[in-house]
Amino acid sequence: MTVASILNGKGHDIISEKAQTPLSDICKVLAEKGIGAIIVTDGNGHIEGIISERDIVKSIGRNGPESLSLPVGDIMTRSVVTCTEADTINDVMSKMSQGRFRHVPVVKDGKVYGLISIGDVVKYRIAQVEQEAEHMRSYITMA
Ligand code: AMP
Repeated sequence: MTVASILNGKGHDIISEKAQTPLSDICKVLAEKGIGAIIVTDGNGHIEGIISERDIVKSIGRNGPESLSLPVGDIMTRSVVTCTEADTINDVMSKMSQGRFRHVPVVKDGKVYGLISIGDVVKYRIAQVEQEAEHMRSYITMA
């Protein structure tokens, strides 16, 4: 299964913000949308960074609540690992486990095109395990 098939199921909704956005506004968007990370773009869809709840907790833990008035560009991770629609879910899982992060943006023609979260990967894995169990059941009852 590829990234394209996951995006076909969940859609291409992308929540992105600009690097100048204060961290307090980022927190509001994370809370309102019930998500764990936001892609930071230049406004034309080119990825400049990613900010996740982990970065926010780390920044407040180290520097206190004053962090909330900083622009997200000061805190985000700039070196973003991405994938393409043609990548398999196994490729994305390896990227997540090697990089120890839970979000991988999908890039198409140099622009952000979607986001795969660990929740999407787990959902796919559960469906896959259930399908394998079903195949086993029908194989056993046929015998
Ligand atoms: P997460 O597990 O996704 O909440 O992120 C953990 C850390 O990895 C945070 O510092 C994020 O900014 C960073 N991060 C998240 N996704 C990526 C990614 N695709 N590429 C590089 N760093 C990432």
